[in-house]
Amino acid sequence: MQNNAPLKIDLHSHTHYSDGKLSVRELLLRATQMQVDVLAITDHDSVGAISPALDLLEQDDAFKNSSLRLISGCEISCSWHGFEIHILGLDVDHRCPVLLDRLNSQLQRRIERAQRISEKLSKCGIDDMFTQVKELMVSDQNQTACMSRAHFANILVERGVCTNFDQAFRQYLGKNKRAYVKPQWVDIASAVEWIQQAGGKAVIAHPFRYDMTTKWLRRLCSEFKAVGGDGMEVQHPNLDVKRHKLMLEIAKELGLCASAGSDFHAPSRWTELGRRLNLPDDVTPIWQTFDRTQLS
Ligand code: AMP
Ligand code: MN
Ligand code: MN
Ligand code: MN
Repeated sequence: MQNNAPLKIDLHSHTHYSDGKLSVRELLLRATQMQVDVLAITDHDSVGAISPALDLLEQDDAFKNSSLRLISGCEISCSWHGFEIHILGLDVDHRCPVLLDRLNSQLQRRIERAQRISEKLSKCGIDDMFTQVKELMVSDQNQTACMSRAHFANILVERGVCTNFDQAFRQYLGKNKRAYVKPQWVDIASAVEWIQQAGGKAVIAHPFRYDMTTKWLRRLCSEFKAVGGDGMEVQHPNLDVKRHKLMLEIAKELGLCASAGSDFHAPSRWTELGRRLNLPDDVTPIWQTFDRTQLS
C-alpha cells in the first residue's frame, strides 16, 4: 500500500472450505508470494475460511511482515431460469447471523444433493462416493465446509473411473449427464439481500462463463441490477478482449461497478492469484464502494 503503486487486488478465490485445493494457510502464503495486496476469499456457499484466515494473518509468524489485506467473501449458487448463476458477496460481515443461517441452508441442500449424486453413481456401479466425499471435507466445528461436484470429480479421477476432472463432468456430473441432479439453489434477489444484510456488496461472478446468449446475459445483468445488485466481474486472467469489452459495456450501461478476480482454485499453468486483473479508468471498481474495508 505504499509507493502509490497500484494495488494488486484479487477478489475471487477458493480454499479447502469449498473446492479449492489449498488450505487457508497455503492460499494466504501463495497470495503473499504473488505480492497480492488485497485478497477476497470467496468459497462456494461458505464463509468458513474467513475466521481462520484472519487468525493466521494476525498470529502466524509467516505473515508478520505481510501487508496482505483480507476481504471476507463467499460465492452463492443461485438458480435463474434453469441456469446456475454465482453471486459473490464481497466485504461481508462473516459473523452476520442472517448470512450464516442462509448459507447453512444452502450447505444442507448441497449435502442432500451429494447423497442423490452418490445414489445415481451407485447405479452406474460406482459405490460409496458420499462417504468418501465426506472424508475429504475440512472438519471445522461449525461444519461450514461446502460439498461440491468438484469433490466428486476429484475422487472419480483418483479412482481411475475418469481420466481427468473435465471428463468427470462430461460423463457423469455435468448438466443432464448420468449422475446429474438438478439443483435448487436460492434465487438471485434473495442472495443479494443476504449479502447486503451482512453489509457486503453483491457481484455477478464470471458473467462471461455462463452458457447463454448475449441477450440472456443482458437480461441477467439487468434483473440483477433491478433487485439491487452492486457489480459484476468484468475481468479474468483468461478472458478474451472481445468478451472483456462486452462485460465493460454492460456494466457501464447498467451502472454496475466492476470487479476482477482470478477464481483461483489451485496452482496450475493457467491459473494464478493476482495476475492480469487491471480495470480501465472509466468504470467504478467495486472495492471503492466497500463499507467495511477502506482501500486506498
Ligand atoms: P457445484 O457448485 O457443486 O455445482 O460445483 C461446481 C464447481 O465444479 C464449479 O465451481 C467448478 O469449480 C466445477 N465445475 C462445474 N462445472 C464444471 C465443468 N463442466 N467442468 C469442470 N469443472 C466444473
Ligand atoms: Mn469452484
Ligand atoms: Mn463460480
Ligand atoms: Mn469461484
